[in-house]
Amino acid sequence: MSKPAPDHATKIKLSFEYFPARTEKAAATLRRTASALDAMGPRFTSVTYGALGSNRDASINTIADVQDATAAPVAAHLTCSGASREEIHATADRFWDMGVRSVVALRGDAADDADAVRAYDHASDFVAGLKKRHGFEVNVAAFPEGHPETSGPGLDGQLVDIENLKRKADAGADRALCQFCFDDEAFLRYRDRAAAAGIGIEIAPGFLPIMNFRRLVDFSEKCGGTLPQWLWDRFAGYEDDVEATRRIAVEVGARQIERLRAAGVDRFHVFTLNKAALVQDIFRAAGVETRDRIAA
Ligand SMILES: Cc1cc2nc3c(=O)[nH]c(=O)nc-3n(C[C@H](O)[C@H](O)[C@H](O)COP(=O)(O)OP(=O)(O)OC[C@H]3O[C@@H](n4cnc5c(N)ncnc54)[C@H](O)[C@@H]3O)c2cc1C
Repeated sequence: MSKPAPDHATKIKLSFEYFPARTEKAAATLRRTASALDAMGPRFTSVTYGALGSNRDASINTIADVQDATAAPVAAHLTCSGASREEIHATADRFWDMGVRSVVALRGDAADDADAVRAYDHASDFVAGLKKRHGFEVNVAAFPEGHPETSGPGLDGQLVDIENLKRKADAGADRALCQFCFDDEAFLRYRDRAAAAGIGIEIAPGFLPIMNFRRLVDFSEKCGGTLPQWLWDRFAGYEDDVEATRRIAVEVGARQIERLRAAGVDRFHVFTLNKAALVQDIFRAAGVETRDRIAA
């Protein structure tokens, strides 16, 4: 049973991303997290989908849990790598039958493997396939600093990604959710260049609360994202200090939200890492009110 929608409205439009819980304990934490963050009135939440189709059931269980714990609608991530078109369509049908009306259509990262089964070669083809099959609202990924596979002399990764986002928008995508990016100027340039390229769909920046700086460094390398020098400087000497990390994370997170809002950004897709408290603290410090608070 879904809870009634929170009665307060906020000018900021939030979406919260969760990943499937692997244990019953993690699932219980996630239910509490999703319920607490639902009090911030997100317009939707989303649940990620593992590569190679191995997490299909975990995603389905987590979607059902999040649907129970929240009033906001759930968008189901779905990748088109690692399974046949029939299998991917069957999963999409299952989501539709669960009442899911929004999806995040992704290629996934399994496409590097030449032997991997692919339902569709590119996310743009997948968008068209999903739109044809059901009346889903379709979100897609976008990469303001360029997709990590884009490399080569003289290549402008941002421009290559804008061309790809145009393909996805032309295929019927409704909204782009961006990879996290600590370089605000890069995001704003991406937004403006996408608009200049005739892309009319909404582009929401990805927001990542920093829970552990060393892990952020590893993760950014994998995702092809850059960490600005000022961020390195801010965390220097505090990498193993949990309390200081939290304080700095709240400060730099809140400032980023304020800077982007000042530049006209009124929506954020938040990678929650299945934890509520830091997200709540950051948005509160940025002047966005929250009702509940839990230690998750
Ligand atoms: C918000 C967000 C959520 C995510 N959630 C998940 C998740 O739940 N599960 C998961 O496994 N991964 C997830 N990812 C990661 C994503 O699957 C990978 O980054 C993947 O490498 C790219 O996916 P895509 O949908 O952007 O692929 P695509 O749009 O297909 O692009 C992949 C690459 O192919 C190139 N390309 C695309 N079309 C063409 C074409 N026609 N011709 C030539 N080149 C082309 C692009 O430029 C790009 O380099 C997420 C990423 C983001 C930003």
